[in-house]
Amino acid sequence: MSTQYDHKAVEAKWQDRWERHRAAEVDLRNSHGKYYMLMMFPYPSGDRLHVGHGRNYILGDSLYRYLRMNGKRALNPMGWDAFGLPAENAAIQRGVHPRDWTVNNIKVMKEQFRRWGILFDWSKEIASCYPEYYRWNQWLFLRMLDQGLAYKKKAPVNWCPSCRTVLANEQVVDGACERCGTAVVQRDLEQWFFRITGYADRLLAGLDELPGWPEKVKVMQRNWIGRSAGAEIDFEVPALGEKVTVFTTRPDTVHGATFLVLAPEHPAVARLIAGHPERAEIEAWVETVRSTPRIEREGETTPKEGRDTGAVARNPATGEEIPLWIANYVLPEYGSGAIMAVPAHDTRDLAFARQEGLPVRLVYHPHGADGADGAEIDPAALAEPILHEGSIRNAPPFDGLAAGPETIGRFIAWLEGEGWGRGKVTYRLRDWLISRQRYWGTPIPVVYCDACGIVPVPESQLPVELPYDVEFTGREGNPLSRSKEFVETSCPKCGAAARRETDTMDTFVDSSWYYLRFLSPRDATKMFDTETADRWMPVDQYIGGIEHAILHLLYARFICKVLHDFGMVGIEEPFQNLFNQGMITRFSEKSGRIEKMSKSKGNTVSPDQLIEEMGADTERVYTLFIGPPDKEAEWSDEAVSGANRFLHRVWRLLDKLAEAPPTAPADGELERERHSTIQRVTSSMERFSFNTAVAALMELSNALFKALEEKTASRRICEETFDTLLQLLHPMAPHVTEELWERRGYTESLLEATWPEHDEKKLHRARIQLVVQVDGKLRDRVEVDADADEKEVRAVVLASPKVQEHLAGKELAKAVLVPGRLMNLVTRR
Ligand SMILES: [Zn+2]
Ligand SMILES: [Zn+2]
Repeated sequence: MSTQYDHKAVEAKWQDRWERHRAAEVDLRNSHGKYYMLMMFPYPSGDRLHVGHGRNYILGDSLYRYLRMNGKRALNPMGWDAFGLPAENAAIQRGVHPRDWTVNNIKVMKEQFRRWGILFDWSKEIASCYPEYYRWNQWLFLRMLDQGLAYKKKAPVNWCPSCRTVLANEQVVDGACERCGTAVVQRDLEQWFFRITGYADRLLAGLDELPGWPEKVKVMQRNWIGRSAGAEIDFEVPALGEKVTVFTTRPDTVHGATFLVLAPEHPAVARLIAGHPERAEIEAWVETVRSTPRIEREGETTPKEGRDTGAVARNPATGEEIPLWIANYVLPEYGSGAIMAVPAHDTRDLAFARQEGLPVRLVYHPHGADGADGAEIDPAALAEPILHEGSIRNAPPFDGLAAGPETIGRFIAWLEGEGWGRGKVTYRLRDWLISRQRYWGTPIPVVYCDACGIVPVPESQLPVELPYDVEFTGREGNPLSRSKEFVETSCPKCGAAARRETDTMDTFVDSSWYYLRFLSPRDATKMFDTETADRWMPVDQYIGGIEHAILHLLYARFICKVLHDFGMVGIEEPFQNLFNQGMITRFSEKSGRIEKMSKSKGNTVSPDQLIEEMGADTERVYTLFIGPPDKEAEWSDEAVSGANRFLHRVWRLLDKLAEAPPTAPADGELERERHSTIQRVTSSMERFSFNTAVAALMELSNALFKALEEKTASRRICEETFDTLLQLLHPMAPHVTEELWERRGYTESLLEATWPEHDEKKLHRARIQLVVQVDGKLRDRVEVDADADEKEVRAVVLASPKVQEHLAGKELAKAVLVPGRLMNLVTRR
């Protein structure tokens, strides 16, 4: 009786059965052998997932099934990062409410996961847009407010003067409003922040405790935090009657500071230009720079612009008066918004000095090729700044010192001794701006009262729920501020009429602690249960895209440390191991290039059609086989069929088993193949090397197929090999293997079957000794594989030096093999 491989029927059957049996459900009270794996929860964007998205989930599910078969209590939950801008845009463009749109998208995505055969523990499903979830964002906010970790201050935002609304960075396209094309300006608004800068050093130190993270991600985080040690130096400005303080990482170049530059935002600017003859022009220019979006101002190619204030500052090191400028390339966030310009030793300063004809003075002179001091360099001829080399000249008492940390330290001590400055550490990291002037997010739980000021909403009144009934026009600010029912409230302190905060939280707040909520998903009394968290945290394996290397992971690490400090969780680092999958590329007709698969490039492949035609198992096997999973890989439609043929071949093996003989000569060979495959696949899985695991399984299926065709292995060994093949292949192709396993007569799911172990002894072919005769006389003994065929034995025998000696000058007529005993070489006489 032979049957066809009907992928549709097989996949529907097993998806249904896993669901009915709640195959992935974990009782969190028991954490013995726990393994918490987590794939970053997706944003339900409304676009159907394509095969490029599938890679993440497929490799995660394969890992999950592998862990289960290895006896781990594996937890693999899933939820939805459900707040965010696209939902609000959909409301504006299509008139559908963000909540309805999101809920529907979740349904669609969930069905896609199901059709891929991904096993999630849906009993722990969460969605950040529901009050049961976001009330804990609010609770966390209040706690942080109480501890001084949340605060409010003015900060610049992107503002469209025509739509009269705040824009997110991604809504600013080439400096213009994405919707109406009007030039975007910067505006200062009162906004809420989380004080992540207070954790900068701990966030840096924590990275050293994460050997299971890709080095690349750790470097990106370190750069983002951007710790720089240096000094503050005070420069006397006679026109102000006070000092201007600058921050520099190179206090050792202070003798070369030939001018001072302020950011246009610096508080001293207005007073400095008050009496300037071109005051009106400078003021207008300052205004233009201030309203330029920050991303543009930071751009490498943005032209440097500046204005001379006419005032001077005194360089404390040289006593000289140096000009005081304002320029667009100095940002108010850097140090104190003022820098000392050292054109000889800084790239941007040199470019600006050359552009404006400002003086250049060298502190360091490079060494000559022989290591000795080179000739004096003419500052006017300096084309490139001298950055970190040479030794000091003309700056007593430091002459002769070489560039480096030690010299910097001596300068700091000197500045401190003279009372001109002090050592200081700064960070590139800024506090986390969490305010969004949007509807579809967590309402920030504070109230404004004329009498009491900012009043936190009492915990007993949480959640502050988003009203459903609001109007989406895309204009005139935040839709929430137009909801009278929401805005108008009473002061929790004095009872007088008050206004609610209409800012909502950045969605990165939602994702900063969701891994803890999976452990207490239905707890209505607290954010999460500490005891459960301490048993299950940290996440053993976190899986997601490299695009989250900085912000999401940094915020999640930060909030985990905050919760640790609140005494709510023991660990400080939430993710023990991190894996970033590579992206899938494909040729794009639109651009004529091979590019990352994306809707906008028109080069996506829909899994729906592929699953219809060849099945989810085929997509899974191909996706895992496509290449090393952390590397970029190009999708090939032809190669998908290869994976499909492989599964059909595995299917046909079942029927062929019946044809195997009861005994056969080469059982040992197939046994060896089976054990070496177990070893290869296991070590591949441990290394996330799914592609080599699939390759090994293809080889095993070929070996079994050949043994059955040639009847060289016994039925018992063929069946054992086939069962092993199904077990090892289950993580990659779960449906077809479950079906075949059942047809083999097993009643338990493969998920419950134990992962096979290899037997070291069976990896090696059995060896036997053979007697070698030349013309009937014993001449040597050789060792060969027990199942070696005549050709192989002959090769070994002829390679023996003793045999060669006895054959010298003779011609070999024939070689007679007595299997397991001897080989006789007969020469021509
Ligand atoms: Zn606009
Ligand atoms: Zn009040």
